[in-house]
Amino acid sequence: MKLETRLAQIGNKKEKKTGAVNFPVYFSTAYEHISLGVSTGYDYSRTANPTRDVLEEAISQLEGGNGGFACSSGMAAIHTLMGLFSAGDHFVVSLDLYGGTYRLFEEVLTRFGLSFTYVDLRRSDDVKRAIGPNTKAVFIESPTNPLMQVTDLKQIAQIAKQAGCYTIVDNTFMTPYFQRPLELGADIVVHSATKYLGGHNDVLAGLIVVKGDELAERLRFIQNSIGAALGPLDTWLLMRGMKTLALRMEKHQENALAIAEYLKQHPLVDEVFYPSLNPESKAILDEQADGYGGMISFRVRNSGMIASILENLNVITYAESLGGVESLITYPARQTHADVPVEIRESIGVCDRLLRLSVGIEHKEDLIADLDQALKKADQE
Ligand SMILES: *Cc1c(COP(=O)(O)O)cnc(C)c1O
Repeated sequence: MKLETRLAQIGNKKEKKTGAVNFPVYFSTAYEHISLGVSTGYDYSRTANPTRDVLEEAISQLEGGNGGFACSSGMAAIHTLMGLFSAGDHFVVSLDLYGGTYRLFEEVLTRFGLSFTYVDLRRSDDVKRAIGPNTKAVFIESPTNPLMQVTDLKQIAQIAKQAGCYTIVDNTFMTPYFQRPLELGADIVVHSATKYLGGHNDVLAGLIVVKGDELAERLRFIQNSIGAALGPLDTWLLMRGMKTLALRMEKHQENALAIAEYLKQHPLVDEVFYPSLNPESKAILDEQADGYGGMISFRVRNSGMIASILENLNVITYAESLGGVESLITYPARQTHADVPVEIRESIGVCDRLLRLSVGIEHKEDLIADLDQALKKADQE
């Protein structure tokens, strides 16, 4: 069955007793035992919840995995999956990484004896060099946040496998609608479902999908042990959002393509980062994905323009986060990447002239007109 069909049908035909088309929210945390040693399959909501089960099965199928896990945020999902590893383990990680993931790795998990080497994953020789005897996984974001660098997932997964390492992919920017890393050789996929999967800026959630029954079993144990499970109402909100994922992703992309073209020709814009504008990125995505997504970053001519642009936009909202129906713009140097040391930040290109735009599903002409008037005002100031 095609992804659109599966997305629209999430939760349908699952509630046999009443035939509810929209799967109900099970708030109950406790479940009656039928008799000694016999349960309905549900005991306690941290371990399993009927509503969460539907979501976890849906995301697992969408990503082509053997087990799905819903967590209370994207960071909770990443923290939970890192529970697979032990003190002394080492990881090779995308250099251009979501700031919160960098903070979790460097400020929290290093205290538990894990270590991380950050590498430009577009350079496969650097990846091979960075893998050592204690390396347990390669952690990939692709396209990266905010510079939209694209990693050849098949190639890196192959290198990792040969070295006996797992490949973990943060698939937040693409969603399974555009990219399914498990089909390309990855072992674990993680999402901030707060972004495109939820899609409406109204629910904080994270999802994990793993390949193989062994990993699924281990992760089920860890999810229950850590307890960062997604609550039933948030689970329901997320499923409602996911039903329209296909429509939204098509529109995000259509708008992003038009805006990227507009920004590219603008005299006050020095550089535009959108995967299809870069021939290498485009070639890789044409192989491994079904689209380029809805995220754009761009560098304006000077940092003095930033405040004026952010203050003068009327349709596009100056707010952190991404992937929702409303267009949002952020200033990575001060927001998402504020925790990344300035030398690293500048060296990877997250400079103080860079803005990141999460293109929503509004009409593209309104979005372009909004950017146009804000850039004009910034020029006059
Ligand atoms: C937002 C984000 C996260 C963190 O997810 P939360 O839901 O905010 O905890 C992780 N990775 C990427 C790529 C993100 O954009």
